[in-house]
Amino acid sequence: MVRVDLDAMSEALLNILQNAYHYTGPDKRIRVSLRAQGRAPFMEVLISVTDNGPGIPQKDQRRIFEKFYRVVRDDAPVAVDGTGLGLAIVWHIIQAHGGDVSVDSEPGRGATFTIRLPAAGQPDLPSEH
Ligand code: ATP
Ligand code: MG
Repeated sequence: MVRVDLDAMSEALLNILQNAYHYTGPDKRIRVSLRAQGRAPFMEVLISVTDNGPGIPQKDQRRIFEKFYRVVRDDAPVAVDGTGLGLAIVWHIIQAHGGDVSVDSEPGRGATFTIRLPAAGQPDLPSEH
């Protein structure tokens, strides 16, 4: 179980999903996966979004989380207007939850964004009584 601000976490996920959608060519393949790792009490939850777009050059991978930073690309499958704020907002939201967000990408072979959140223990399952 993770404890989150639902509105904020939805906004963070939506930003990453919108990027996966917008920066990918017409044959879009976007995979979302969720997994837990570690052992109680140090478990964490990982949410990954993988796309099959152009990917992100190594030199830009750290900077895309900065405000207003956009990657200049001549070979983009589609030109996309944006402010460069989306991932900066994602970064702040995930930091505020005690987690982190990272990107893994080999240019030309898509990108994977992963959010890691500390788990808050066992789920509060409804009692059978
Ligand atoms: P907006 O504020 O509207 O989200 P934006 O999409 O340009 O604008 P970010 O979401 O912060 O801003 O993304 C920063 C840059 O990172 C983008 O301009 C794009 O170049 C690159 N980027 C982000 N996600 C992907 C992705 N899935 N594939 C390829 N490039 C990406
Ligand atoms: Mg964006």
